[in-house]
Amino acid sequence: MSADKLSPAPYRGRFAPSPTGPLHFGSLVAAVGSYLDARAHQGEWLLRIEDIDPPREVAGATDDILRTLDSFGLEWDGQFVYQSQRSEYYNTALDQLRQSGYLYGCACSRREIADSMPTRGTAGVYPGTCRNGILPGRTARSLRVRVDPGKTGLKDRLQGDISQSLSEDVGDFIVRRADNLIAYQLAVVVDDAEQEITHIVRGVDLLESTPRQIYLQQLLELPMPVYLHLPVAVNSRGEKLSKQTHASRISDHHKTTVLIDVLRFLRQDLPDSPGDARADELLAWAVAHWAVDKIPTRRSLTAAPAYYGA
Ligand code: GLU
Repeated sequence: MSADKLSPAPYRGRFAPSPTGPLHFGSLVAAVGSYLDARAHQGEWLLRIEDIDPPREVAGATDDILRTLDSFGLEWDGQFVYQSQRSEYYNTALDQLRQSGYLYGCACSRREIADSMPTRGTAGVYPGTCRNGILPGRTARSLRVRVDPGKTGLKDRLQGDISQSLSEDVGDFIVRRADNLIAYQLAVVVDDAEQEITHIVRGVDLLESTPRQIYLQQLLELPMPVYLHLPVAVNSRGEKLSKQTHASRISDHHKTTVLIDVLRFLRQDLPDSPGDARADELLAWAVAHWAVDKIPTRRSLTAAPAYYGA
């Protein structure tokens, strides 16, 4: 095993896809990476369907994701959960934030915030307009968390020391949106704690969100998991593979070939004649040979052209 030493404490990892479409090469990298790391540490690997954003959901995507994971032999432990069925946990967390004085209602529309930025129309740090109460005659649309000055940081197993000043770089952030939906930042923190997740392995595109998540863990007095952010898969133009960039559906590809490509992407060793192995055999081999220190610390890596079509 790798030089990346983890304490022998219990390990519980997870894969948490949003059902916004079928799995593509990039999402499979996160699934396989989190699975291999969990199994290589004799850990559990849970599955959580992050379906709290109905406007972005695609009908049938959850079933498609489940079938694809299954077909690769990526077996999750226990019963998977749906975020859409967990609003009581999120509401309890909102109450807790309210009681501690960190939650406030915000009347600002996106437009108003953009217009108040030094460079008109740019997205940026929320200026704190509603922090001390909303103006008479206006109604709260969203709920925000007050951010104290200071640095919030983590030591990522792959990306190293990361630190952010939330007050300077993000500002008070939304935990319940104007459409009443719970924001990803809050849901993910509440669920990881409630499911007792100890280790998170996911794409580096979420690293930027991690200080916000750690800040919420601190406010809610929740334990902080250990993080590992993997490079994201990009196309030849450097764009992250996604539905928008025409990433192809992974279940349309030959399984062993895909797994070989995922392991190559993560710079893992391969057995002799890997193409002769079945996907589940290759996965078992990869668990036994998982080496975090071989994964490039780069933020992105180019995927094979077969995975993003034209
Ligand atoms: N649901 C998120 C996504 O599909 C991942 C959340 C996470 O791993 O924290 O991008």
